[in-house]
Amino acid sequence: MPLDPSPSQMHEMGESVLTYLVDFIRGLDDAPAEATDGALDLARRLRASPPEDGRPFAELFAQVQDAVARTFEYSGPGYLAYIPGGGLFTAALAEFIAQGVNRYAGLWGPSPAVVQLEENVTRWLCDLFDYPAGSQGILTSGGSMANFSAVVTARHAKLGPDFLDGTYYVSAQTHGSVTKAASLAGFSERNLRIVPTDDELRMDPAALTELIEADRRAGLRPFLVVASAGTTNTGVIDPMEAVADIAASGGLWLHVDGAYGGFFQLTDRGKERFAGITSADSITLDPHKGLFLPYGTGALVVREGSALRDAHFEGAAYLQDLAPEGELPNYAEYSPELSRDWRGLRVWMPLVLHGVGAFREALDEKLDLTRRLHDGLAQEPLLEIPWEPQLTVVAFRLAGGDRDANTRLLSRINDSKRVFLSSTLVADGYLIRACIVSHRTHADRIDECIEIVRKAAAEVVAG
Ligand SMILES: *Cc1c(COP(=O)(O)O)cnc(C)c1O
Repeated sequence: MPLDPSPSQMHEMGESVLTYLVDFIRGLDDAPAEATDGALDLARRLRASPPEDGRPFAELFAQVQDAVARTFEYSGPGYLAYIPGGGLFTAALAEFIAQGVNRYAGLWGPSPAVVQLEENVTRWLCDLFDYPAGSQGILTSGGSMANFSAVVTARHAKLGPDFLDGTYYVSAQTHGSVTKAASLAGFSERNLRIVPTDDELRMDPAALTELIEADRRAGLRPFLVVASAGTTNTGVIDPMEAVADIAASGGLWLHVDGAYGGFFQLTDRGKERFAGITSADSITLDPHKGLFLPYGTGALVVREGSALRDAHFEGAAYLQDLAPEGELPNYAEYSPELSRDWRGLRVWMPLVLHGVGAFREALDEKLDLTRRLHDGLAQEPLLEIPWEPQLTVVAFRLAGGDRDANTRLLSRINDSKRVFLSSTLVADGYLIRACIVSHRTHADRIDECIEIVRKAAAEVVAG
């Protein structure tokens, strides 16, 4: 196969890929929720260095399909583990175009209209949180990188070059990518404070104030507090208004991690529960979760775009021919990345093609489904649901069951291959969690999930 295939070769390969993807998506309703039996054996059979001479497309496409088939069904309606996303076909199509034409969106000068399409997305994200003119967003590879840029920006804005006396505040429920980001940004455990939570696992504002004051008395410089708009464990929403007030009066940067929950801001219920979020200095969002995109797209919005740029900008002589920052942003000056994919297209195209309303409705449906799942499981006396869901995670366990019984319950549920759930620990207590985000999950699958869980619970209790 030549590096530039002939038109007929391109058509042949492209059409077989398209046919496969259409069948794949049509088959998701009936696909097993988990199909990892023999997956490692397959991985071993596939282990090989690339050959000196190329092999036929059909042969290796078959291998790709085998590999894809031996995994969790991340894209299916039964995938309720971790934080699901779904994966929109129209985003994949946009990605095919973006990679096919290979346009660069990191600097606006050479391709203003290409950058504009991406900027339509980042502006919309800023508008979603009522951010003022002068705010700026970037698209990242995911929430982890967005959290990283947020911590670096907060560090730069609040501490300057000698920052090791800075202290930052999270709760025990904050996502691990935040402390990882802080560690990549040069901080250690000495700089970290874990704020206690209330009975509902929300950050306790009074405890936050006390920790900040104690650090100040010790001569340290409190600079950043991270609140969650939906924790990964149980979907907890930190008290945004109270935390924002504390941050504002103490001069701390408030970052909100909305990687899982942020897009519920599109719904009335989400907006109400996040009240206060618009005061945040920066917010992480994950289109590959809440906008149902395929993996690989996160976002960060920053109220003062100049702070984001100040923290990331480095001039370079070899870029001197290109236009400076102007009517459009040079994303490379706002993010750690220079060369990167044109990821704006895969967000812009679905948003414009389906319309924002389609996403709002789908997210609203997830809130309804969570209620439905909660109420269905709450009717089962064998189960215990320690907290009311605040977003779209329902965490439960066998009433009085030990960890061993609960792990058996989880594996029985997942043996159904119709739904796939995961577990977590909260204050050392084992919990099974179902997280409803995928646009493909509807009431029929939630009802089926309730039946599967109840039956599995009865079987585990019966031994
Ligand atoms: C998923 C998640 C992250 C990390 O985002 P990635 O896109 O996986 O890098 C951060 N915070 C929360 C709350 C998340 O759910």
